[in-house]
Amino acid sequence: MIANVIVDVPAKQTNRTFDYIIPDAMRGWLAIGSRVGVPFGPRVVQGFVVSMSERADVAASKLKPIAQVMDLVPPLTPELVELARWMSRTYLCHEITALQAMIPGALKAKYERYVTLGGAADEEAAAQGFGQLSFDNRADIAAFVRSKEHVPLEQLLERFAGDGALIQSMIKSGELLEVQTIKNRLSAKKVLVVYPPEDPSVLEACVSKLPAGAKRQKEVLEHLIRNPAPVRLTELALELNVGAGTVKGLADKGWIGLRETEVFRDPYAGREFKRTQPLPFTEEQAAVFEPIQAALTAVRHEVFLLHGVTGSGKTEVYLQAIRQCLDQGREAIVLVPEISLTPQMVERFKGRFGSEVAVLHSRLSNGERYDEWRKIALKQVRVVIGARSAIFAPFTSLGLIIIDEEHETSYKQEDSPKYHAREVAIERAIRHRAAVVLGSATPSLESYYRASERDDRSGAAGRQAGPGGSPFAGVNAGRAAAVAHPSAYRLLTMKERVQGRPLPPVHLVDMREELKQGNRSMFSRPLYKAIEERLEKKQQVVLFLNRRGYSTFVMCRECGHTLGCPHCDISLTYHQSSQTVRCHYCGYAEPQARTCPSCSSEHIRFFGTGTQKVEEELGKLFPGIRVIRMDVDTTTEKGSHEKLLTMFRNREADVLLGTQMVAKGLDFPDVTLVGVIAADTVLNLPDFRAGERTFQLLTQVAGRAGRHELPGEVFVQTYTPEHYSIVTASGHDYEAFLEEELRMREAGGYPPYYRLILITISHEQIPMLVRTAESLVGHIKELLLRETDGSDDAMVLGPVASPIPRIKDRYRFQCMIKYRGDSQLPSLIAKAAEAFDDVCRQHNVQIGIDVDPQLL
Ligand code: ADP
Ligand code: ZN
Ligand code: ZN
Repeated sequence: MIANVIVDVPAKQTNRTFDYIIPDAMRGWLAIGSRVGVPFGPRVVQGFVVSMSERADVAASKLKPIAQVMDLVPPLTPELVELARWMSRTYLCHEITALQAMIPGALKAKYERYVTLGGAADEEAAAQGFGQLSFDNRADIAAFVRSKEHVPLEQLLERFAGDGALIQSMIKSGELLEVQTIKNRLSAKKVLVVYPPEDPSVLEACVSKLPAGAKRQKEVLEHLIRNPAPVRLTELALELNVGAGTVKGLADKGWIGLRETEVFRDPYAGREFKRTQPLPFTEEQAAVFEPIQAALTAVRHEVFLLHGVTGSGKTEVYLQAIRQCLDQGREAIVLVPEISLTPQMVERFKGRFGSEVAVLHSRLSNGERYDEWRKIALKQVRVVIGARSAIFAPFTSLGLIIIDEEHETSYKQEDSPKYHAREVAIERAIRHRAAVVLGSATPSLESYYRASERDDRSGAAGRQAGPGGSPFAGVNAGRAAAVAHPSAYRLLTMKERVQGRPLPPVHLVDMREELKQGNRSMFSRPLYKAIEERLEKKQQVVLFLNRRGYSTFVMCRECGHTLGCPHCDISLTYHQSSQTVRCHYCGYAEPQARTCPSCSSEHIRFFGTGTQKVEEELGKLFPGIRVIRMDVDTTTEKGSHEKLLTMFRNREADVLLGTQMVAKGLDFPDVTLVGVIAADTVLNLPDFRAGERTFQLLTQVAGRAGRHELPGEVFVQTYTPEHYSIVTASGHDYEAFLEEELRMREAGGYPPYYRLILITISHEQIPMLVRTAESLVGHIKELLLRETDGSDDAMVLGPVASPIPRIKDRYRFQCMIKYRGDSQLPSLIAKAAEAFDDVCRQHNVQIGIDVDPQLL
């Protein structure tokens, strides 16, 4: 039998497999998905077995055997191997990149380089050591290597410091042989465990054999007679307040067992999760649960878009769907944005399913994540809750995948493989005939659109969309004949908060008015008053400031005018280096204006303020105010995020001030006021999704207020209170927002009507970059003309400079392709880029392709 292996070799990252002989000893337990070490030239590299065959493509004599199998249980399943192939096609990445993304960081290969004596070594000289006349250290080096058999290269270079070039030349000439092996970064954690004998009463005889002074050992034995379960040595020693040596002495006598035993590192060790029972559903919950349950029962693949306002009880629906899935003997994955994977969130799942739950997120240590992942691989858990990459959990009978806050951009990975977890989830679910539930208070336009395609087909347009009828009725009038999408989502809606608590009123504060009244502070008078009132009543306040978008867009503080591109509905971005403002979509540029083109005011400038500045100003305005600031600066330490939130919950502060981190999923009973410092910061990002992001963020933030007995209130400060995203968010009106936004998207040729592919080209020198970018774009246009029928369903824009025109000393250009339909465009683009492989290699040009980019 031959194993077909995809190897981890950067220079040869093609999708081709290499054939290796399966040694007899490995037969039977080597499987598709096994991680192996295979010889590749002089080295051993990591690879994955992706298939097996009876015979090889090359002569058997040329084949080498697999060197190592790295894990007892293959870390990947055949289904995941197939999924990697799909990812490679869909996101135009190499299969090895997709495979590597599926395993925990701890399993990524770490290579170690060794040297041994090579065939061309001068045996004689080596044997005599420094006995021979020599003008360099050649003989010494050889003797040293010989004495050790093999030496880590680094150690050799250190020992013969200054002889680096000589050592390299000895490797070249074959006197020394360089070998590479794989080392796992992490291994299992082992602890000493005390095992009392099966029949603990035999220890009574031992007690009588103890010498008179052994009081401590007597205590230990008596304890073990009373508690005969295995126990960690450290725990036992701590409990009885004896030294470890005391216990070890008993093991030396052979009376008790003491063995190294593997334990899983448990990030939630020592924490009690109160068991919770399913809540009786509200009417709306019952209505949305019914079709999910039906799909599960029928073992039928279906995608549900659960559109429920914040606090409508979506999580309870997830929990009961998971229960149903487990009862059927299947497994469930829950994806949550990294940022909202708070201890509170974990508690809700651990509280319901206890030790059936594994948790995966980036704040775990490498070891903890590895162990949580192994619990999945070893089938010790059946539910995983985690961030994006948890979608690759190696379950084998998936019944349900839940994606909470499905609109979040963090579900799209920005590095290769540039996959979207939602699309990967659906792909996996199809293979398992599993149900997918996408939950959000503010669904992405892409998802809502796909739900509407089903509405069109079933003719039930008005039913789900409320009294106004389908929001697509008007927008889609022109394409009533649109073909129903075969994998359209099913829309489920929950409009009420549980227990009828009202959504908080949102007050818009026009900051232009404030300026007219002479208030140049970042706090408007209404927000100032509202904070003052909460401080008096001893209630709590959440203040939100967006992280992204500072110092980039240019706005007039007198009239709210922002500089926009004359050719695109996108704000211009300020470029400090050249003192210009530019459009990132079409390349338009103009010098930075000194006065507002609309009202001639001189108060036009790029906009920027940070959380630190807000904190300072709060201190000035309200002496003695207690503020907890939560942003990237204050949450770098492990556990700091949780600590700050606990402090706020314990009322050790009046105000929680933060970025995105305070917008998501938090639930504090005493918060009655939420303030948004500047709603425009997101709105003016040079991104066609800016309106959508603004609506989503404002809705999320507003959802933090008044979740309990005390009613809440929200203040949104803005320079553009008339903008539809802000108006509709303040009215909690998703449908109205959707209608407006869809109109904009269709007019601009953006998703969900068009799909995008972003190509980024980078090089150290601008002339080379421009030449390559232009010829690549030319080539793409040619291919499009030739291989599609030249219809205007695909557009190629650019090349233009990237929003960040230089990263790590490389200049960047980009090109955007917009297209419609289920076309073969991604593979066509891949083909176009492949034609440049040689140019790229020769001149060190890099071409990156992002299919369905999220952040532009
Ligand atoms: P969402 O996920 O939609 O924001 P949650 O699931 O967090 O909403 O629910 C909001 C609150 O309502 C939570 O405190 C939750 O425990 C409670 N809740 C949910 N469903 C019910 C129910 N059927 N009966 C009583 N309380 C419920
Ligand atoms: Zn102006
Ligand atoms: Zn433009």
